Amino acid sequence: MSPNKKAALFLVATPIGNLSEISPRALEVLEEVDVIACEDTRTSQKLLSHFKIATKTISYHNFNEKESAKGIIKLLEEGESVALISDAGYPLISDPGYLLVNEVIEKGFDIITISGPNAALNALVASGLPTNHYLFYGFLNAKSSQARKQLEELKDLPYTMIFYEAPHRIEKTLALALEVFGDRKACLARELTKLHEQYYRGTLSELCLLHDLKGEMVLLIEGCTKEEEDASEEELLPEVNELLEKGLRAKDAVNEVAKKHKVSKNGLYNAYLKDKEGH
Ligand code: SAM
Repeated sequence: MSPNKKAALFLVATPIGNLSEISPRALEVLEEVDVIACEDTRTSQKLLSHFKIATKTISYHNFNEKESAKGIIKLLEEGESVALISDAGYPLISDPGYLLVNEVIEKGFDIITISGPNAALNALVASGLPTNHYLFYGFLNAKSSQARKQLEELKDLPYTMIFYEAPHRIEKTLALALEVFGDRKACLARELTKLHEQYYRGTLSELCLLHDLKGEMVLLIEGCTKEEEDASEEELLPEVNELLEKGLRAKDAVNEVAKKHKVSKNGLYNAYLKDKEGH
């Protein structure tokens, strides 16, 4: 990079399939920096060769992230500019780089992001699910028991949820999601920006009928709706009534049940009052 340019870390998003989606600015930066730190140098070499970029590459990955970060800080201290790229999309998004970014911030170097494709956002905007509030979760734990716990933590959140998933696990994940969330609206987005890009939109039980799904995929699931919340509160009323029969005051019975099931006390109390008025 020219000597009058300050050393900086560039976070460069790269294509998630279709190579035409790399921006002119990304190409310019990749050409001009002194070093490109890649998640996997062999994967990135294909992209760089395609665009005839001959910049030096080094490897930066999860297994030796601390060591790699040290090496990159050293380069910045020597006045070199570094671009960080992952195999696809944004670095740091279900990809390495978080540790490095924090070290670079601590050392006071500039960080510049170069916009580009991201599988989660591509899938979200075409999913047909609400986009005003969403939660990007990334990969669930590979162990089913842990994944179930993670889904249970998300169950009551009213935001569209976005998951990355591997093809060999998708059927299990869909079945688990149906069990934990019930039959919510969902979308499975496959092979985005590639020749066989495909969206399956429906409910979780409908998506569970799909088999032999291949390629890269993003799963989106509708957040908890008001109706679902109301229904779950109504389901708890027999438990409240049981405590009332045992002699507890209405407020105490509601508080106890709400605490046990981790639902809102006010919501459950309102459901209780509504039910009482209806009788
Ligand atoms: N950093 C990337 C990003 O910004 O989207 C994500 C990397 S993560 C290691 C890889 C996962 O992203 C895949 O398992 C898949 O869930 C999703 N993904 C990446 N490219 C995709 C594509 N073209 N179509 C659908 N999903 C994709």
